[in-house]
Amino acid sequence: MKKIDRRIFLKGGLAGGAALAATGTAATAKGAGTFNGYPNSMGVLVDLTKCVGCRTCEAACNKEQGLPAPDKPFNDTSVFDEVREGGQKRRTTEKAYTVVNRYDVEGREGGPVYRKFQCNHCQEPACLTSCFVNAYKKTPEGAVIYNPKVCVGCRTCMVACPFYVPAYAYSSATNPVVKKCIMCYDTRLKFGRPPACVEACPQEVMTFGKRTDLIKLGHERIKANPGKYVDHLYGETEVGGTSWMYLSDVPFEKVGFDTTLGNQPIISYVKDFLGMVPVVLTVWPALFTGFHLLANRKEAKKKEEENKG
Ligand code: SF4
Ligand code: SF4
Ligand code: SF4
Repeated sequence: MKKIDRRIFLKGGLAGGAALAATGTAATAKGAGTFNGYPNSMGVLVDLTKCVGCRTCEAACNKEQGLPAPDKPFNDTSVFDEVREGGQKRRTTEKAYTVVNRYDVEGREGGPVYRKFQCNHCQEPACLTSCFVNAYKKTPEGAVIYNPKVCVGCRTCMVACPFYVPAYAYSSATNPVVKKCIMCYDTRLKFGRPPACVEACPQEVMTFGKRTDLIKLGHERIKANPGKYVDHLYGETEVGGTSWMYLSDVPFEKVGFDTTLGNQPIISYVKDFLGMVPVVLTVWPALFTGFHLLANRKEAKKKEEENKG
């Protein structure tokens, strides 16, 4: 039943979008820059200088989230040599919500840098603001979670996310599901407990706490160790701020961080990107509008039926 509903919805949305495109109707992206996160939300401070690349965090996440066994065991360090198309290092997938990568930084004493990668749980998430069926939610605790029952599989969130996080389970084309780190919301965060990966790390690379406290802690650590850290807390302000923030002893761009993102929520850049592609600019907003109207109509009809019943 769920699958049929989704297919009909998708078909209807496309038809609605096409009709609106013909009449030149445009949609606007939802309120960028209007939400700065919940004041008491939690976060994680990651100190890259402490990570030894043991991948215990990957194993802990796999267990906590009930993910399938990995292609290579978690003690296999050959994964650090894997290179994707375009020279990319490993990324999160539908089967791995967190991955650790190795970076050989020239001239660094103490060997390579290891960096854990997962959803950063943005304060104003691009995945959320770009999703026209409201499949995503930023919880007061700080996690960005999603509702697979609402997702229509358009993959807009994949395009919008500045950190390339959301992945899709492609096992069924008619029943797509977003897969990403949810900050262990269901099993831990909502009960005030730290995420499984944080707790499992033998090097105490990650500190779990109130985001505002972590910002203070990060700056204190930089000040208390002159010359050790780069004087910047990545994620404090990037893309409007993120719940996961990072300390590093090497420039962030050398360990795979995008230092060109700026401090505005990413949705404004997404709009710019759409503006650069005329055909998309014409058709995509119309499709969004079509989907949005249909979603509203569907919701209204449901309520009408509920009231009647
Ligand atoms: S468990 Fe800790 S030390 Fe090991 S790879 Fe993960 S973050 Fe690094
Ligand atoms: S990192 Fe990407 S997926 Fe995670 S909250 Fe931010 S925009 Fe969404
Ligand atoms: S916070 Fe939870 S879901 Fe996210 S990477 Fe860590 S263990 Fe996995």
